[in-house]
Order: sequence, then structure tokens, then C-alpha cells
Amino acid sequence: MIPPEKIEHWIGGEHRPSVDGATFGVADPVGNAEYARVASGSAADVDRAVAAAASAFASGPWPSMAARARARILNAIADGIEARGEEIAAAETFDTGLPITQAKGQAARAAENFRYFADVIVAAHSGAFSTPGQLGYVLRQPAGVAGLITPWNTPFMLETWKLAPALASGCTVVLKPAEWTPLSASFLPEIMAEAGLPDGALNIVHGIGEVAGAALVAHPDVPRISFTGETVTGRDIMRSAAGHLKGLSMELGGKSPCIVFADADMELATDSALFGVFSLNGERCTAGSRILVERPAYDTFVARLAERAARIRVGDPSDPSTEIGALVHPEHYERVMSYVRLGVREDARLVAGGSRPAGLSSGNYLAATVFADVEPSMRIFTEEIFGPVACVTPFTGESEAISLANATDYGLAAYIWTNDLRRAHRVASSVEAGMTWVNSHNVRDLRTPFGGVKASGLGREGGQHSIDFYTESRIVHIAKGDTHVPRFGA
Ligand code: NAD
Repeated sequence: MIPPEKIEHWIGGEHRPSVDGATFGVADPVGNAEYARVASGSAADVDRAVAAAASAFASGPWPSMAARARARILNAIADGIEARGEEIAAAETFDTGLPITQAKGQAARAAENFRYFADVIVAAHSGAFSTPGQLGYVLRQPAGVAGLITPWNTPFMLETWKLAPALASGCTVVLKPAEWTPLSASFLPEIMAEAGLPDGALNIVHGIGEVAGAALVAHPDVPRISFTGETVTGRDIMRSAAGHLKGLSMELGGKSPCIVFADADMELATDSALFGVFSLNGERCTAGSRILVERPAYDTFVARLAERAARIRVGDPSDPSTEIGALVHPEHYERVMSYVRLGVREDARLVAGGSRPAGLSSGNYLAATVFADVEPSMRIFTEEIFGPVACVTPFTGESEAISLANATDYGLAAYIWTNDLRRAHRVASSVEAGMTWVNSHNVRDLRTPFGGVKASGLGREGGQHSIDFYTESRIVHIAKGDTHVPRFGA
């Protein structure tokens, strides 16, 4: 993988430097060496990008194109992603430190995001409401310019998870990728142009969140902001967007429970608990990072987790045998390490990992880490660590499992392992989570509502929810005969 030396904005179908020429450096997480200078967007660059998107919306063919014609282009984008899947995955691995096998899976899912929303719009229909006197029909129209702000974990997949429904809906977009991982987004302009997306429908402004992202949120001509990132950032964005009453979709942080009852299939539950917290380097919003285990099974389960975690292969992200790669950035690595030190200070029992793996003296590497006997009062139990760190806590009975599961501000995902069908339903309805999986890990069905409750988010994406977000539904009422009109002043 030979990375480019510079990465520019993509505005109105052209690569552009920043108006003021500013750039920032971006490094890879293995060498921690700067590999490129990236255009650092300011409000002036956001203005240009929004103007290009607004003009493509007002006078371009995209918003008014027939669904089938738009779907053809979306499918061609998916073809383009698939054709470059290996390259995209290699770039993602280089830039983020994600293990290559997992980056390939994410690239495939990115293509699927476009295919799926191509299907959705072709099959779409809008409602009609009939009474004896009146017919109402719904006009569904794209909302306008959508601002898409994405994080550094699985950047390409998450960018496409927003781009696909926004473009499918007929919106034009300005994407602000995360500043630590700008590389994979630079595949998008070529792929989209080749697929036939009109100039100006896709615009990308790189830059620092508090500058470029904030300018996009504050821009009066951007009626929708779809944001994925930290809860604290989400709060800032909501405050800023309030001035223009923007439509917001907020996909925020998580600290999801994986609840294992003693009657569960322990082999599968162990595999799933490990995968749930250590896949994608643990840098995963839906990570099952709190593993709650029923007491009769607790000691054995902890021993198995510890033994397996110690064998997880940590190393070069580009090696296909690697299971955990390098954490994205030294700053993030330090944050994760500070939680490991905190766990030790809080007196949680460290049963695996907790430090750099042997033989990896540089790069942002952390061995798969497991803390047992984690108390709900500890900060490592309640705060999102966003790295390969699992917290294991025992419980007695269903009601304690539920109260422990709900003892954080977050509510993104939950995983329940039990062979008792009735209990599975009871716990699923009591756990405060936007998405719950029973006897399964995070297997997505793109039609289903994706999002969190409590501090994990606001609004839902996925399937029709995404289309609802990027469109306005307007109702037209038509009288079928003479309407009775009260005659004021007659
Ligand atoms: P972050 O909030 O720091 O940044 C996310 C994006 O927002 C980046 O592009 C950043 O530049 C931008 N940004 C930062 N400040 C901004 C501001 N004031 N105004 C506008 N934009 C701003 O998040 P991160 O560290 O990149 O990502 C990790 C977080 O994302 C974790 O909390 C994780 O749980 C969450 N996440 C959630 C989901 C989900 O679907 N719920 C998915 C993935 C990640």
C-alpha cells in the first residue's frame, strides 16, 4: 500500500486545496509517522462545498431523477467499491490499524449499503388516504443538502452507511470524514464519478471536527445532519443545530452489556463475548464491553475468557492472521491505556492483557485485556473505553442482570445468552438498548432500525428510517366533491 502524499477536498467534481492553503498531517497507527498532508477545511471551504451541493440540488438532475435511474448509479457505485475492495481494505487497514480480514468485510458491507438502498428506492411507494369526501396522497421529496459527519472507526463503511441512503433519497451531500482517518474516503470521488453520479452531488471537506464539522453543522443551507461519533460531540452538535432547527440523526457512544445466563450454550457464548468486544480492535460502538455472567457459571466463564484472550493474535494489521491490530492513534491509545490503569486502581481483577504484547515495542498495540469482578460503581464499568478491554461482572438472577445491564448512561446494544425462551423475551424487553441480539452477536439486517436509546443516540437509521430522515413527507389533500365551507361573515 503506497499512500498518497496529499489528500484534498472534493468540491463540485474537482479536487481542491483549502481556500487558505491550510493542511494537517495524518499518520498510520503502526509507524505513527506522518504519511500525508490533508487539506484542512475551514468555514470558507464548507461554504464552497455547500454551494456546490445546493446548486446540484437546485438545478442538477439528481434529486428529480427516476428512482430506477438513481438506483442504477447506486449499483454502479457498489460495483466500483467491489472492484476496488482489496485496495480499499488495504488503505483502511493502513490508516486505521484494523485487521485486514475485518477491513475486507467492512469494504464488502460498504458495497452492500449502496445495493441495499438502490433496492429500497426502487421498491418505495408513498401512502394515500381516502375518505368519502377527500383523497390525501403523500409526496416524498429529498430534504436538500445533507451534512454527514463520521468517526474514525470503520470510516469507509460508516461513510457509505450515510452516503447511500442520503443519495438514494435524492439529497446532495457534504461529507466530513474523521480527521484521523481520511484515506479511504479518497476512493469515493473516482468511484462515484465513474458510476455516473453528477458533479456536486458528492462533496467532501476534510478537516478538524471543531472547525470544518462545526461549520457544516452551523451552515444555514444544510437542513439535515447525520452524525456518528461521541456523545459529548453529539451534544455540541445539537446545541449548534438548534439555531436552524435542523433534522438530526445522532449515532453516539455505547457500553453495551453481553448477558450470559448459566443455562446458555457456553461454548458459543464465549466465542460471541470475545468477538463482541475484541473484533474491530474493540473500537466498535456496539462492542459488548460489559460481560455480565450468572454466578453459577461465573468462575469457569472468566477462566475461559482469560485463557482465550491471552491467545488472541495481536500484531501487524495487514497480516491476515491478525485478530487485533493497532489502535487508531497515539492519543486514543493513551486514552485506552489510561482506562487500563484506572481499572487496576479501581481494584478490578486483571485476568488477561493490560499491556503491550511481547515483541511489539512500537505501534499502538494493546493485548486483549480482561478485567473480572468489575463493580458497577467503577468507572471502567460505566464509561466507554472503545478499545480491546472487556469488563466482567457476576450477577444473581434475572432482575440483577437487568439492573446491571441498565446501570450506564448508554443504551446502544445488548446481547443476551440463554436457552430459556420466555426469559429471553422478558430480558430483551427490559434492557434499555436500541438493538438487542439473543443468542447471537452483532449480525445486521439493513432493513431494521439502527440506533440507541439514552445517551447512545437520537433517531434511527437503516431501512425506511434512513429514507424518512433524508426526505420530507408532504401530504396533498384533494376534495372529491363540493366541500362544506363554514361561511364566516356571510
Ligand atoms: P468524535 O465525536 O470525536 O468525532 C466524530 C466526527 O465528528 C469526526 O468527523 C470529528 O471531526 C467530528 N467532530 C468533532 N467535533 C465536532 C464538532 N464540534 N462539530 C461537528 N463535528 C465535530 O468521535 P470519534 O472519536 O471519531 O468516534 C468514536 C465515537 O463514535 C465513539 O464514542 C463511538 O461509540 C461512536 N460511534 C457510534 C456509532 C453508532 O452508530 N452509534 C458508530 C461508530 C462510532
